[in-house]
Amino acid sequence: MEKQKTKRNNIIQNAFIVYKAMFKRYPAAIPLVLVYLVMAVSLPFINTLIPAMAIKGITSGKVQTFMAYIGIAVLFMCIFSGVKLLCEKKMQMKHTYTRISVFMFNFIKKAINTDYLNIEPQPKQKIMGKGVQGVDGNYQGAELVSTLSLELLVVVLGIFSYGTVIFMLDWKILLVMFGMFFTDILIRNHAVKFGDDNRESFSEPWRKMRYMELNSMNVSAGKDIRIFSLKKVFDFHFDSLITTYKNFRSKYQLKWYYPTLSDTAFNIARDWLAYTLLIHKVLSGQIDAAQFTIYIGIVASFSQWIYEVSMDFANLRDASHQFNDYHEFMAQKDVFEHSETTSTISTDKVPPEIEFRNVSFIYEGSEKPVLKNVNFKIRANEKIALVGNNGAGKTTIVKLLCALYLPTSGEILIDGKNINEIGIEKYQEMISVLFQDTTPIAISVAENIGGCELAEVDRERMNKCLKEAGLYEKVQSLPQKEESFITQTLDKDGVLFSGGETQKLLLAKAIYKNGTVLILDEPTSALDPIAESRIYEEYNQMADNKTAVFISHRLASTKFCDRILFLDDGQILEEGSHEELMKKAGKYKEIFDIQSHYYVEDVEERNEQ
Ligand code: ADP
Repeated sequence: MEKQKTKRNNIIQNAFIVYKAMFKRYPAAIPLVLVYLVMAVSLPFINTLIPAMAIKGITSGKVQTFMAYIGIAVLFMCIFSGVKLLCEKKMQMKHTYTRISVFMFNFIKKAINTDYLNIEPQPKQKIMGKGVQGVDGNYQGAELVSTLSLELLVVVLGIFSYGTVIFMLDWKILLVMFGMFFTDILIRNHAVKFGDDNRESFSEPWRKMRYMELNSMNVSAGKDIRIFSLKKVFDFHFDSLITTYKNFRSKYQLKWYYPTLSDTAFNIARDWLAYTLLIHKVLSGQIDAAQFTIYIGIVASFSQWIYEVSMDFANLRDASHQFNDYHEFMAQKDVFEHSETTSTISTDKVPPEIEFRNVSFIYEGSEKPVLKNVNFKIRANEKIALVGNNGAGKTTIVKLLCALYLPTSGEILIDGKNINEIGIEKYQEMISVLFQDTTPIAISVAENIGGCELAEVDRERMNKCLKEAGLYEKVQSLPQKEESFITQTLDKDGVLFSGGETQKLLLAKAIYKNGTVLILDEPTSALDPIAESRIYEEYNQMADNKTAVFISHRLASTKFCDRILFLDDGQILEEGSHEELMKKAGKYKEIFDIQSHYYVEDVEERNEQ
């Protein structure tokens, strides 16, 4: 599959994106930003003005007058500081709200709406995992771009305005200071470039540590960790990740050693130069002692800003890279045609004919074809079994049947029409499927079954489906009945269903949807073979007037189907009814006999007990 290259935005473009989003969502943020900028730039100036006024008062003998001026200046300083602080606090909320309500929300919308093939393959998982870091926290990605770019703007405005004052005083000071600044940037560039070139070395251990952190809370991994004493292995891996991170971080810190030394040297040189020049100006009568204090203050603020500009810039680059990772995920292209449909209840009651024509498939990030030139046709209303050993490619065929992936080559035709021409939503409307590994979402039972908001669920239809699936009594016994949430993740009174009950809930959902194509991908694999066989026959009765596909690696479960496709290593090896395949005495029969032998032994053993 062709690798998508996304254009990476520069800092200014990313800052523009966050502020455009913020101002659109919160227009009140515009005056806030403006007021904040004025306060932040003028405060250091008022700060330098106060000691200058004191000196002027003392040297001119007009202490009273200047005390009054100082009082006014202090008052202004208090007001400016208060307003600045207030703006900062309000801005902080806007930075966070914008990140959550615009970028994080868009991320979630993209993740649940984009084609499944953009989220499942390993390379896509990595893109998604990095992308989420761009919107995941206060001190990274979008939010850091937003806070730091404002800080940087203050610094740049300060440099310009104070630089102008210094220029009017003596252009030589300004020239030397800019000279120092650019030399400093050059020295820092080595460290910044190192950080840029090794971004993966920074983010990878983080991503892996995050995975371990999530797994430490994962209840299903939690069982394995305890029973199979994986704690030590877990600790070992986490420890080695910390070491990798620490080693790399120390290397990076070392790169900043020379810039820090140069900062100190430049500070000394700058002070020496400024004092020499300014003392000379005082002695030659060009400026008085009060002006001397103002200029020294301005030079100090100016150098502080010049120092901050390169630090902020380096951090902003990092944040901007993370925000670009978010853009990269957002730019993942869908390959299916999407249309605006909201109903999940099938309205088209005529079951379709499905054809796989020369279908081959390779998962992204893998080289080995999982399906090789697969050809079959399922007639409308036909009941097909897809059987074969684990890893034969059955679930992959289900994913293709559900339009979660497109074939790498060949095509899938629905009533003679390419699957992609139908529109993915319209096609998926026809499908009712029970996957092996679905976990219901932690919303209410009714919303899960109806696939819509509570108010829109057809309760009568839902109860009928719950009865058919054998879960009605259980749901009725719950204090909040069908409005009970599943698990306590989103509601403290949520209900915990057993594995079997969950399976019934998923079945009720599939019946409610009433798709004209019914697919069962070994949802019963946790049951014993005899129980699975019985349930499959029950499901078969529900599949009336549907095109149905039953998947199993237990050949006895699907004997009843009209036709059986026996899949081996991504190819259809044999095809026919159970009787035909047994008569053929090929691989199907061989495996069927082996399996029945075990089942018979299993049943006999149980009977003996
Ligand atoms: P079955 O359902 O018959 O057990 P699957 O269709 O699940 O087989 O898997 C067929 C092959 O495809 C296996 O070798 C499996 O490792 C591989 N496979 C399944 N899912 C992925 C994936 N997301 N990425 C890469 N390879 C995969």
